Amino acid sequence: MEPLELDRPKEECGIFGVFAPKTEVAKLTFFGLFALQHRGQESAGIAVSDGSTLRFHKGMGLVSQVFTEQMLSELQGDLAVGHTRYSTTGVSEIKNAQPIVCQSIVGGVAVAHNGNLINTAELRTKLAAEGVVFTSSNDSEIIAHLLSRHLALGVDEAVRLTMEQIKGAYSVAVLLPDKVVAFRDPLGVRPLAVGRVRDGWMVASETCAFAPVGGKVDRELCPGEMVVLDATGMRFRQVVPSGAEKMCLFEFIYFARPDSRMYGTTIYSARERMGQQLAIEHPVEADIVVPVPDSGIPAALGYSRHSGIPFKEGMTKSRYIHRTFIQPDQKMREMGVRMKLAPLEDHIRGRRIVLVDDSIVRATTTKQLVRLLFEAGAAEVHVRITAPPITNPCFYGIDMAGKGELAAAQMSIEEICKSVGATSLGYLSIEGAVHAVGREESAFCLACFNGNYPLPVPEDISKHAFETPPDVGAMAAIQTRD
Ligand code: SF4
Repeated sequence: MEPLELDRPKEECGIFGVFAPKTEVAKLTFFGLFALQHRGQESAGIAVSDGSTLRFHKGMGLVSQVFTEQMLSELQGDLAVGHTRYSTTGVSEIKNAQPIVCQSIVGGVAVAHNGNLINTAELRTKLAAEGVVFTSSNDSEIIAHLLSRHLALGVDEAVRLTMEQIKGAYSVAVLLPDKVVAFRDPLGVRPLAVGRVRDGWMVASETCAFAPVGGKVDRELCPGEMVVLDATGMRFRQVVPSGAEKMCLFEFIYFARPDSRMYGTTIYSARERMGQQLAIEHPVEADIVVPVPDSGIPAALGYSRHSGIPFKEGMTKSRYIHRTFIQPDQKMREMGVRMKLAPLEDHIRGRRIVLVDDSIVRATTTKQLVRLLFEAGAAEVHVRITAPPITNPCFYGIDMAGKGELAAAQMSIEEICKSVGATSLGYLSIEGAVHAVGREESAFCLACFNGNYPLPVPEDISKHAFETPPDVGAMAAIQTRD
């Protein structure tokens, strides 16, 4: 739960897996998840196996709030998977925290999933009719049940049969008694990378999870590919042929951590190039370029470098506001961004400002930011945005509001500019954003920008329809399974 949220799209999960005997794998997973905290702040969980027993703990809150040193020391084993989750409103409950744990013919199975399945309703109905009892309301449990029932045929076949049935965006890490298995959907919408650590191997949503635990990046998993980490080493297999790559462009614009690598580039460099491109597409005469911290910083530097307009910090961010669970009262809430961002008046007063931000969803935050700068004495505020206008909702694992709430779906750019009170407003083009990453346009999912969904989405299914009401009570904090 994050009490004060800026108007941003929200990633739904970060996943981590490790096979590393002779290592404290629970602690290693904790720090891996810690590095992936930006991908989800509502719940966290770790499951470990020592070869015969699967132990897990999960809870609501940030990784550092869910785990204590004592808990981690009780999670003894040689291999582990972990998960950190952001959920859509109303379903932020312990029963939906991951990894999802269930029994199989080979023993306990724990599944950590990032993404959204688009055939959840169909699969859930089918499995329920076959006697499966669901203990959560999320689509990840479907993956856990499908895998478990096929494991008698071996891991490779179980993954193949599961991937044949599930449709959508998914990166998955699975803990089995003696191996960690990870796989990525055939379009590679959500990221997944493989790394090495002393005495073992790892998988993670982002490469930024490897360095803090002393690991190194091996490579990104290909769309439709699986990797098995076990005592024999690291084994890759192309499970489902991938005709196309459709990586989420928003990972580059906003979600991923700047030090992560995707598509062969660091996110930071891609964002700098987006800023340069923004300066080419939307030049303006101004005195300083100001980022919205922290995500706007690399793009603001890029804009500044190309335009020659000096980079200057114009506001500071409260680093710890997200760590409080104390809810602000209504009056405080109305102050919105002021709880998170404080203007540096001496930098702002009398200046013409280029304000660089990553995205506009409902435009509520942009409006508050512009007002903040004018109240601090700005002469002009020219808003520049590195995400192209968001005109469509996401069905592939990102919570970014329905079409009716998206500013760019309801208003022209001129109207948005007027409604947020900016002096001018410029969005980076789709071509410009893609060019900045350095891959061809066909390599990206761009659905929220152009409405071309790479996977079919039934028209009558809203993003929230994938979340069905909970069935069973909350899970015990620690359970042991043989
Ligand atoms: S619709 Fe947008 S946010 Fe969703 S996966 Fe595609 S590019 Fe990413």
